[in-house]
Amino acid sequence: MTSHLSQTKQADRSASNAENSWHYEMKQAIRSSHELCVYLKISPHTIDAEENDFPVFVPRSFAARMKTGDPADPLLLQVVAQAKESVTTDGYARDPNGENDAVLAAGVLQKYSSRALLITSGACAVHCRYCFRRHYPYSESPTGLEQWRNSLDIISRDPKIEEVILSGGDPLILSDRAIGRLLSELADIPHIKHVRFHTRTPVIIASRITTALIAQLKSTRLKIWFVIHSNHANELDGEVLTGLSKVQQIGIPVLNQAVLLRNINDSETALYNLCKRLIDAQITPYYLHQLDEVAGAAHFHVSVERGKELIAAIRKRLPGYAIPRYVKEIAGEQSKTVLA
Ligand SMILES: *Cc1c(COP(=O)(O)O)cnc(C)c1O
Ligand code: SF4
Repeated sequence: MTSHLSQTKQADRSASNAENSWHYEMKQAIRSSHELCVYLKISPHTIDAEENDFPVFVPRSFAARMKTGDPADPLLLQVVAQAKESVTTDGYARDPNGENDAVLAAGVLQKYSSRALLITSGACAVHCRYCFRRHYPYSESPTGLEQWRNSLDIISRDPKIEEVILSGGDPLILSDRAIGRLLSELADIPHIKHVRFHTRTPVIIASRITTALIAQLKSTRLKIWFVIHSNHANELDGEVLTGLSKVQQIGIPVLNQAVLLRNINDSETALYNLCKRLIDAQITPYYLHQLDEVAGAAHFHVSVERGKELIAAIRKRLPGYAIPRYVKEIAGEQSKTVLA
């Protein structure tokens, strides 16, 4: 039985090798806590698994990096829906960052001067249980080039905007062709210099870094930056790092943002291993975010005091460039607030 299971996992891993298999990975994703528990041979009761209005979505190549039979697996706990999510906690709101106030138009947010954030797609390659956008009204946001027209017009009228952050959801859920069209529209706006991809997709589905994507990224005049999102060293296996190295090889800097999460990366070892794995792949740890207090995520909370302790601890063991800025999002501030 065990050998059968590990063969399945092996197959799931190598499925992500093939070029363009990422669409297939999306189709085949695990879509319930129950199915995920069965896959990992864990009794759903052990972790109080539930299904709720933020559906579970986990591609198999990501699930294959979880440890069979381990209910405390740090990758599993980020993506499985648990009964704890339905507990209401004071101070945990549906729109913790006041994002609904930063909306310039459907699909464009601007909180900080010089950069605007474009909601490119409502979808993601995985559903993270702590996500501050879990209650975001995506259905009201545009998701195709025609619908972006309005967002692009707004950006083109403000010469102070030099950088556009492609976010979502996740911009790499768009097809390579749609990304190419969006980049060429942005390149036509003279004051835009930088385009930043905020994406977790390459960490979840390594095969998303296709030859066609690399070609699109290479052929624009825009300075491209990648900010990936990984919270634990176990997410960063050889295939993920190989995919990202293709991005690095064309001169695109890759940075990482992580969220400080209880029982996932709130130990010195876990945080050290994450930052070490990143710098060994020449990826800069950019931000460590204090959890946004979003309804349903209170069980991931780590105190700011503990966060500062962890940063101080890893600072003694790693080079300066390996230490992320520990930040918190405070509604109404002109930048993220640095805690350590
Ligand atoms: C975090 C964030 C940015 C980017 O901030 P940087 O400090 O430049 O990484 C831009 N817009 C919004 C709305 C953000 O939340
Ligand atoms: S990938 Fe990012 S936006 Fe999507 S669910 Fe996870 S944290 Fe949220």
